[in-house]
Amino acid sequence: MTKPRPRPTVVVVGLGGTIAMTPSARDGAARPSLSAQDLLDAVPQLDSADIDIQTLSFASKPGASLTLDDIETLASWLREMAGEGTADGIVVTQGTDTLEETAYLLSLLYAEQAPLVVSGAMRAPHLAGADGPANLLAAVTVAASPQARGLGVLVVFNDLVFDPARVRKTHSTSTHAFAAPDTGPLGAVVEGHLRLLAIPAHTPRPLTTALHRPARVMLYCATLGDDERLLEPLLSQVDGLVIAGFGVGHVPETWVPVLAKAARRIPVVLASRTGGGTTLTRAYGFDGSEKDLLSRGLIGAGHLDPYKARLLLTVLLRAGADHDTIRATYAPAGTTAEGRG
Ligand code: ASP
Repeated sequence: MTKPRPRPTVVVVGLGGTIAMTPSARDGAARPSLSAQDLLDAVPQLDSADIDIQTLSFASKPGASLTLDDIETLASWLREMAGEGTADGIVVTQGTDTLEETAYLLSLLYAEQAPLVVSGAMRAPHLAGADGPANLLAAVTVAASPQARGLGVLVVFNDLVFDPARVRKTHSTSTHAFAAPDTGPLGAVVEGHLRLLAIPAHTPRPLTTALHRPARVMLYCATLGDDERLLEPLLSQVDGLVIAGFGVGHVPETWVPVLAKAARRIPVVLASRTGGGTTLTRAYGFDGSEKDLLSRGLIGAGHLDPYKARLLLTVLLRAGADHDTIRATYAPAGTTAEGRG
């Protein structure tokens, strides 16, 4: 293992998002345009920090247009950068709309010692109280911190540090848009330093093997009064399915034969649509309950929310994992009782 150099090098990689948006002359609406170097120029506090900073503009997109291929390509660049020792820490800045997903996906694909910190902004640089510079300063601080080494991917936002497996975007406009409903933050940036208060219960063993296989995984949300007729025709088009069920993992009783049939062909994962908490395993026994669905071959996502459960299934299928491996991976990833031991 290479020792961190006395003056760490942090590479800031820009992907676009509000943090890099400026208003267009045409309609005043914000669109991505700034480079990673532009973002850095807005943080003079970093000039006096004892950190060498390099920049790289990887993409200039809103968060909504980032693709799984983008993130897989990015992950392989970052692995190389950290593996060669070019970076002691990495910061990725991007749109907040998909940040809870990209950070989790990166955590499945990146296993280097150099911390990889994902951040962004809720207010574009031209708005009063723009939060991009403060978020970038905190993100670079964490990425350069020896305490963060070996922790893999972290999300830093509004001076708080989050586990990518637990973080959610919980507000559409507030600068305090990110939270981890089940655990709270792992730490905070206080007076220019990282204060680590907790470490994640489960760190995924990243799947950096080649993701050659195509895999289309659908996320379908249970909603009041939706019968099975919308869901059923879609199933032949997918290689995996995640159900965002009601509460602890419930669906309408009419869905049961459809999901049972699907689970004989493809992996079907059962998550909760609530935004916090876990799926259960045996508390309820009615048709369409979690106990019923698990007995028919569905896989519980535990504390993993539906968006992250979909990404995990996608990566597993793209890596060619078999059904037993997929099932065995969800228990620790969702931090369920079955995952202990
Ligand atoms: N609201 C978004 C952001 O914060 C837009 C995007 O995701 O690009 O960056």
